[in-house]
Amino acid sequence: MSKTFEKLQPLLDKSMALQTARSLFEWDDQTTAPFEAADYTSKVVGILSDEYMKSMINDDVRKLLKKLQEDKEQEDLTETQKAIVRELGKTYEQLESIPPEEYRAFNEYTSIANRKWAKAKKDNKYEDFAPYLKKIIEFKKKFAGYRAKGNKKPYEVLLGDYDECFMIKELDTFFDKVKSDIIPLLKEVAKKAETVDKSYNYLSYDIDKQKEFCKFLAGYVGFDFNRGVIAESAHPFTMQLHNHDVRITDRYMENNLESAMFSIIHESGHAIYEMNIDDAITQTLVGGGASMGMHESQSRFYENLIGRSKDFWEPIYDKLVNTYPDNLKDINLDHFIKGINKAAPSLIRTEADELSYCIHIIIRYEIEKMLFSDEVDIEELPKVWNQKYEEYMGITPTTDAEGILQDTHWSYGEFGYFPSYAIGTAVASQIYFCMDELMPMDQYLNEGNLIPIRDFLRDYIHKHGAVRNTNQILMEVCGEEFNAEYYVTYLKEKYKNLYSL
Ligand code: ZN
Repeated sequence: MSKTFEKLQPLLDKSMALQTARSLFEWDDQTTAPFEAADYTSKVVGILSDEYMKSMINDDVRKLLKKLQEDKEQEDLTETQKAIVRELGKTYEQLESIPPEEYRAFNEYTSIANRKWAKAKKDNKYEDFAPYLKKIIEFKKKFAGYRAKGNKKPYEVLLGDYDECFMIKELDTFFDKVKSDIIPLLKEVAKKAETVDKSYNYLSYDIDKQKEFCKFLAGYVGFDFNRGVIAESAHPFTMQLHNHDVRITDRYMENNLESAMFSIIHESGHAIYEMNIDDAITQTLVGGGASMGMHESQSRFYENLIGRSKDFWEPIYDKLVNTYPDNLKDINLDHFIKGINKAAPSLIRTEADELSYCIHIIIRYEIEKMLFSDEVDIEELPKVWNQKYEEYMGITPTTDAEGILQDTHWSYGEFGYFPSYAIGTAVASQIYFCMDELMPMDQYLNEGNLIPIRDFLRDYIHKHGAVRNTNQILMEVCGEEFNAEYYVTYLKEKYKNLYSL
């Protein structure tokens, strides 16, 4: 037992408590807080945030961390404690490398830039946002420079914040594979998919019934209502206070049946991950998901790999039809499955289907890479963006709002984040393939028995939290590190079967 770690524990517990309080306010702000609350509550949140920073970054914690990083001390630590020390070291490196006044200036600047972005998007004028984007990139380059070790590129420092296993080399290999195999497939599928009539999806669907059915879906895939709640928000998200309090939201639209259903399955996937984290590590620095990409792999595993399959819907499709008999009585299961898997090149990432989604990510990744190696002028970005959409998707945005200005991420300085979405889907496919070798996945889904699937994910992935990284988890589950081949094969087989290509 490490005496030094014992001294560190209560200090970390205190920052965890402050962080939890902050999260609860954020949840409240996005779900139930009254409209006028924000300006006043922000004072409370500001103080909590300051206290949180002070509880993390101070001489006591710094000294203990330094000591715990020594070889001699490491010998006395358990695997979990070592992982906690490693995480704490990363947090210190991130926070301490940037002078506090620069960090504050950046945060103030991005909150202005985000509003400018929203306005520019509304007015459809990229030039109004461009100067802000330029300055944010300068900030991020400078910050990355403080932390870049060896010959690591600034963009790689940013990528590493989201998933340390995926640097430029790994992502280039992954995306080259997707480009060469999926772009031609998308064109082929789109032609066939045109004939699928999906008008049923846009009829009127009673919102109360949607809520009831979505609640059923969450429970069906394994969301535990004793440890979690569902609320409504403008954009669906998941927030965990700890593994016994995981909250998700959904958004309901009267004229879109699919939207809320697949969002709830997606968020349930995130929630199940958090609920399954071991009691021994929840409320510690390793008590969350392994990485952004890994988290996204679990939500997409449930949403796409399972949730868009015929076997999944076989036992429950009648229930959906009986909920909306007038709208769905003439839509048989095969038609519905084709409908939820309809694919075509598209302009808007958040509305993209499973097949074109990754191409949206590749375009953003390629542009970010260019931005951080000074290969493109900020003024030129809309042109570059549109050219890439034309090249990869065969369509060109007609406005900046449906082009370069569509995502909020850059206005917050979140560069290097987009690849996580693509990594998530690809990792999900790899995991599914390996599980399918070990257990009769189709049969379980067809019987409506998702328990063995959830138990496997819990034992091999979820319960370990962030003690292991993405590749270590994949080694454990599949006996090999990340391999994009599974993802490409999954998409090819799925769409070839659906559309008899
Ligand atoms: Zn997600």
